[in-house]
Amino acid sequence: MIRFFNKLYKESREDFLSIVRDNLSNDNRMFIVTANPEAFMFGEKDSEVEKLLLDDATTVVADGIGIVKGGKKIGIDIAERIPGVEIAEKLLKYGSELNKSVFFLGAKQEVIDALCAVVEEKYPSLKIAGAVNGYTPDKDAVFEEIKSAKPDIVLVALGIPAQEKLIYKHLKDFDKGIFVGVGGSFDVISGTKARAPKLFIKLNLEWLYRLLKEPSRIKRFYNSNVKFLLKLKK
Ligand code: UDP
Repeated sequence: MIRFFNKLYKESREDFLSIVRDNLSNDNRMFIVTANPEAFMFGEKDSEVEKLLLDDATTVVADGIGIVKGGKKIGIDIAERIPGVEIAEKLLKYGSELNKSVFFLGAKQEVIDALCAVVEEKYPSLKIAGAVNGYTPDKDAVFEEIKSAKPDIVLVALGIPAQEKLIYKHLKDFDKGIFVGVGGSFDVISGTKARAPKLFIKLNLEWLYRLLKEPSRIKRFYNSNVKFLLKLKK
Protein backbone atom coordinates (compact mmCIF):
# COMPACT_ATOMS: atom_id res chain seq x y z
CA MET A 1 0.00 0.00 0.00
CA ILE A 2 2.79 2.41 0.94
CA ARG A 3 4.26 2.16 -2.58
CA PHE A 4 1.08 3.66 -3.96
CA PHE A 5 1.24 6.49 -1.47
CA ASN A 6 4.87 7.18 -2.36
CA LYS A 7 3.95 7.45 -6.01
CA LEU A 8 1.21 10.06 -5.39
CA TYR A 9 1.39 13.64 -6.54
CA LYS A 10 1.50 15.54 -3.24
CA GLU A 11 1.48 19.26 -4.07
CA SER A 12 -1.45 21.65 -4.43
CA ARG A 13 -4.34 21.47 -6.87
CA GLU A 14 -3.25 24.74 -8.43
CA ASP A 15 0.29 23.47 -9.11
CA PHE A 16 -1.08 20.26 -10.55
CA LEU A 17 -3.49 22.02 -12.87
CA SER A 18 -0.73 24.25 -14.18
CA ILE A 19 1.35 21.15 -15.03
CA VAL A 20 -1.66 19.69 -16.84
CA ARG A 21 -2.17 22.90 -18.80
CA ASP A 22 1.50 23.02 -19.80
CA ASN A 23 1.41 19.41 -20.96
CA LEU A 24 -1.71 20.09 -22.99
CA SER A 25 -0.20 23.21 -24.50
CA ASN A 26 3.06 21.40 -25.38
CA ASP A 27 1.37 18.32 -26.90
CA ASN A 28 2.90 16.04 -24.28
CA ARG A 29 1.41 12.72 -23.30
CA MET A 30 0.06 12.37 -19.77
CA PHE A 31 -2.00 9.68 -18.03
CA ILE A 32 -3.73 10.82 -14.85
CA VAL A 33 -5.22 8.35 -12.37
CA THR A 34 -7.56 9.99 -9.89
CA ALA A 35 -7.22 7.66 -6.93
CA ASN A 36 -9.62 6.90 -4.14
CA PRO A 37 -9.18 4.12 -1.57
CA GLU A 38 -10.92 1.74 -3.95
CA ALA A 39 -8.18 2.27 -6.54
CA PHE A 40 -5.42 1.41 -4.06
CA MET A 41 -7.37 -1.65 -2.88
CA PHE A 42 -7.62 -2.82 -6.50
CA GLY A 43 -3.88 -2.26 -6.77
CA GLU A 44 -3.34 -4.72 -3.93
CA LYS A 45 -5.23 -7.57 -5.56
CA ASP A 46 -5.06 -6.93 -9.30
CA SER A 47 -1.57 -7.02 -10.83
CA GLU A 48 -2.58 -4.95 -13.84
CA VAL A 49 -3.85 -2.12 -11.62
CA GLU A 50 -0.74 -2.47 -9.46
CA LYS A 51 1.43 -2.07 -12.55
CA LEU A 52 -0.37 0.96 -13.91
CA LEU A 53 -0.39 2.72 -10.54
CA LEU A 54 3.37 2.33 -10.20
CA ASP A 55 4.32 3.05 -13.82
CA ASP A 56 6.45 6.15 -14.43
CA ALA A 57 4.11 7.05 -17.29
CA THR A 58 1.25 7.50 -14.81
CA THR A 59 0.51 10.47 -12.58
CA VAL A 60 -1.60 9.49 -9.58
CA VAL A 61 -3.53 12.17 -7.68
CA ALA A 62 -5.68 11.94 -4.55
CA ASP A 63 -9.26 12.26 -5.70
CA GLY A 64 -10.75 10.93 -2.46
CA ILE A 65 -10.35 12.46 0.99
CA GLY A 66 -9.72 8.88 2.21
CA ILE A 67 -6.35 8.98 0.41
CA VAL A 68 -5.37 12.33 1.96
CA LYS A 69 -6.41 11.22 5.47
CA GLY A 70 -4.95 7.74 4.99
CA GLY A 71 -1.62 9.30 3.97
CA LYS A 72 -1.60 11.42 7.11
CA LYS A 73 -2.05 8.28 9.22
CA ILE A 74 1.13 6.77 7.83
CA GLY A 75 3.13 10.01 7.84
CA ILE A 76 2.76 10.98 4.18
CA ASP A 77 1.74 14.56 3.61
CA ILE A 78 -0.58 15.24 0.68
CA ALA A 79 -1.51 18.90 0.24
CA GLU A 80 -5.17 18.42 -0.71
CA ARG A 81 -7.74 16.49 -2.72
CA ILE A 82 -7.71 16.92 -6.48
CA PRO A 83 -11.14 15.69 -7.58
CA GLY A 84 -11.36 14.06 -10.99
CA VAL A 85 -14.45 16.03 -11.95
CA GLU A 86 -12.50 19.28 -11.46
CA ILE A 87 -9.61 17.99 -13.56
CA ALA A 88 -12.11 17.13 -16.29
CA GLU A 89 -13.76 20.55 -16.16
CA LYS A 90 -10.43 22.37 -16.21
CA LEU A 91 -9.24 20.30 -19.16
CA LEU A 92 -12.33 21.31 -21.12
CA LYS A 93 -11.68 24.95 -20.27
CA TYR A 94 -7.95 24.83 -21.15
CA GLY A 95 -8.80 22.85 -24.27
CA SER A 96 -11.13 25.60 -25.40
CA GLU A 97 -8.61 28.34 -24.60
CA LEU A 98 -5.89 26.52 -26.52
CA ASN A 99 -8.12 25.41 -29.45
CA LYS A 100 -7.57 21.73 -28.73
CA SER A 101 -9.71 18.63 -29.32
CA VAL A 102 -11.32 16.09 -27.01
CA PHE A 103 -12.62 12.53 -27.29
CA PHE A 104 -15.23 11.27 -24.81
CA LEU A 105 -15.72 7.58 -24.06
CA GLY A 106 -18.13 6.46 -21.36
CA ALA A 107 -21.51 6.84 -19.66
CA LYS A 108 -24.95 6.29 -21.15
CA GLN A 109 -25.84 7.57 -24.61
CA GLU A 110 -28.21 10.24 -23.27
CA VAL A 111 -25.50 11.45 -20.89
CA ILE A 112 -22.94 11.66 -23.70
CA ASP A 113 -25.44 13.61 -25.84
CA ALA A 114 -26.13 16.05 -23.01
CA LEU A 115 -22.40 16.35 -22.36
CA CYS A 116 -21.65 17.28 -25.99
CA ALA A 117 -24.41 19.92 -25.90
CA VAL A 118 -22.97 21.46 -22.71
CA VAL A 119 -19.44 21.42 -24.12
CA GLU A 120 -20.47 23.04 -27.40
CA GLU A 121 -22.21 25.79 -25.49
CA LYS A 122 -19.69 26.38 -22.70
CA TYR A 123 -16.38 25.59 -24.42
CA PRO A 124 -16.99 26.67 -28.03
CA SER A 125 -13.37 26.52 -29.20
CA LEU A 126 -12.87 22.96 -28.03
CA LYS A 127 -13.32 20.53 -30.92
CA ILE A 128 -15.17 17.30 -30.11
CA ALA A 129 -13.17 14.65 -32.00
CA GLY A 130 -15.56 11.88 -30.99
CA ALA A 131 -18.05 10.79 -28.34
CA VAL A 132 -18.95 7.15 -27.73
CA ASN A 133 -21.10 5.77 -24.92
CA GLY A 134 -19.59 3.42 -22.37
CA TYR A 135 -21.85 0.48 -23.10
CA THR A 136 -20.34 -0.19 -26.53
CA PRO A 137 -19.13 -3.80 -26.28
CA ASP A 138 -15.84 -3.44 -28.18
CA LYS A 139 -13.97 -0.69 -26.40
CA ASP A 140 -10.65 -1.62 -27.99
CA ALA A 141 -12.21 -0.78 -31.35
CA VAL A 142 -13.17 2.63 -29.96
CA PHE A 143 -9.54 3.13 -29.01
CA GLU A 144 -8.52 2.39 -32.59
CA GLU A 145 -10.87 5.21 -33.58
CA ILE A 146 -9.20 7.44 -30.98
CA LYS A 147 -5.79 6.58 -32.42
CA SER A 148 -6.83 7.83 -35.85
CA ALA A 149 -8.51 10.94 -34.43
CA LYS A 150 -5.36 11.90 -32.42
CA PRO A 151 -7.27 14.07 -29.93
CA ASP A 152 -5.45 16.30 -27.43
CA ILE A 153 -7.64 15.20 -24.51
CA VAL A 154 -9.14 11.74 -23.92
CA LEU A 155 -11.65 11.39 -21.09
CA VAL A 156 -12.80 7.87 -20.26
CA ALA A 157 -15.74 7.42 -17.88
CA LEU A 158 -16.30 3.71 -17.24
CA GLY A 159 -15.60 3.57 -13.50
CA ILE A 160 -12.49 2.38 -11.68
CA PRO A 161 -10.56 0.25 -12.68
CA ALA A 162 -11.99 -0.51 -16.15
CA GLN A 163 -11.26 3.01 -17.43
CA GLU A 164 -7.63 2.97 -16.22
CA LYS A 165 -6.96 -0.52 -17.59
CA LEU A 166 -8.32 0.42 -20.99
CA ILE A 167 -6.25 3.61 -21.21
CA TYR A 168 -3.11 1.83 -20.00
CA LYS A 169 -3.49 -0.93 -22.55
CA HIS A 170 -3.38 1.56 -25.43
CA LEU A 171 -1.26 4.35 -24.00
CA LYS A 172 1.99 3.34 -25.70
CA ASP A 173 0.37 3.84 -29.12
CA PHE A 174 -0.02 7.56 -28.52
CA ASP A 175 2.66 10.20 -28.53
CA LYS A 176 0.46 13.02 -27.29
CA GLY A 177 -2.78 13.47 -25.35
CA ILE A 178 -3.95 14.00 -21.80
CA PHE A 179 -5.69 10.76 -20.72
CA VAL A 180 -7.88 10.67 -17.64
CA GLY A 181 -10.27 8.11 -16.18
CA VAL A 182 -13.02 10.34 -14.87
CA GLY A 183 -15.58 8.00 -13.23
CA GLY A 184 -18.96 9.64 -12.85
CA SER A 185 -17.83 13.05 -14.17
CA PHE A 186 -19.82 12.94 -17.43
CA ASP A 187 -22.99 12.50 -15.37
CA VAL A 188 -22.11 15.65 -13.41
CA ILE A 189 -20.75 17.89 -16.22
CA SER A 190 -23.69 17.02 -18.49
CA GLY A 191 -26.07 18.16 -15.75
CA THR A 192 -27.59 14.67 -15.48
CA LYS A 193 -26.50 14.25 -11.84
CA ALA A 194 -25.80 17.02 -9.36
CA ARG A 195 -22.45 17.20 -7.63
CA ALA A 196 -22.62 17.46 -3.83
CA PRO A 197 -23.60 20.89 -2.43
CA LYS A 198 -20.64 23.22 -1.78
CA LEU A 199 -20.84 22.74 1.97
CA PHE A 200 -20.39 18.97 1.64
CA ILE A 201 -17.40 19.53 -0.63
CA LYS A 202 -15.91 22.07 1.77
CA LEU A 203 -16.28 19.72 4.72
CA ASN A 204 -14.76 16.86 2.70
CA LEU A 205 -18.04 14.98 2.86
CA GLU A 206 -18.65 14.57 -0.86
CA TRP A 207 -18.44 10.79 -0.35
CA LEU A 208 -21.24 10.96 2.24
CA TYR A 209 -23.47 12.87 -0.16
CA ARG A 210 -22.96 10.21 -2.83
CA LEU A 211 -23.80 7.47 -0.34
CA LEU A 212 -26.98 9.26 0.75
CA LYS A 213 -28.03 9.84 -2.86
CA GLU A 214 -27.16 6.33 -4.01
CA PRO A 215 -27.47 3.94 -1.05
CA SER A 216 -26.67 1.03 -3.35
CA ARG A 217 -23.06 2.24 -3.17
CA ILE A 218 -22.82 1.18 0.48
CA LYS A 219 -21.40 -2.27 -0.22
CA ARG A 220 -18.79 -0.86 -2.58
CA PHE A 221 -17.98 1.77 0.04
CA TYR A 222 -17.51 -0.83 2.76
CA ASN A 223 -15.38 -3.09 0.60
CA SER A 224 -13.04 -0.32 -0.39
CA ASN A 225 -12.96 2.48 2.17
CA VAL A 226 -13.58 0.63 5.43
CA LYS A 227 -11.21 -2.20 4.55
CA PHE A 228 -8.67 0.37 3.37
CA LEU A 229 -8.66 2.12 6.75
CA LEU A 230 -8.37 -1.20 8.58
CA LYS A 231 -5.44 -2.15 6.39
CA LEU A 232 -3.67 1.16 7.04
CA LYS A 233 -4.16 0.76 10.79
CA LYS A 234 -2.31 -2.54 10.62
N1 UDP B 1 -20.21 3.18 -17.10
C1 UDP B 1 -20.10 2.91 -18.44
N2 UDP B 1 -20.04 1.60 -18.86
C2 UDP B 1 -20.09 0.57 -17.99
C3 UDP B 1 -20.19 0.85 -16.60
C4 UDP B 1 -20.25 2.17 -16.19
O1 UDP B 1 -20.04 3.81 -19.25
O2 UDP B 1 -20.03 -0.58 -18.44
C5 UDP B 1 -20.28 4.58 -16.67
C6 UDP B 1 -21.48 4.95 -15.87
O3 UDP B 1 -22.56 5.25 -16.72
C7 UDP B 1 -20.98 6.18 -15.12
C8 UDP B 1 -19.49 5.88 -14.95
O4 UDP B 1 -19.19 4.83 -15.84
O5 UDP B 1 -21.13 7.32 -15.91
C9 UDP B 1 -19.06 5.39 -13.57
O6 UDP B 1 -19.59 6.16 -12.63
P1 UDP B 1 -19.37 5.93 -11.07
O7 UDP B 1 -20.14 7.00 -10.44
O8 UDP B 1 -19.60 4.50 -10.67
O9 UDP B 1 -17.80 6.19 -10.97
P2 UDP B 1 -16.92 6.63 -9.75
O10 UDP B 1 -16.79 8.10 -9.90
O11 UDP B 1 -17.64 6.19 -8.50
O12 UDP B 1 -15.66 5.86 -10.02
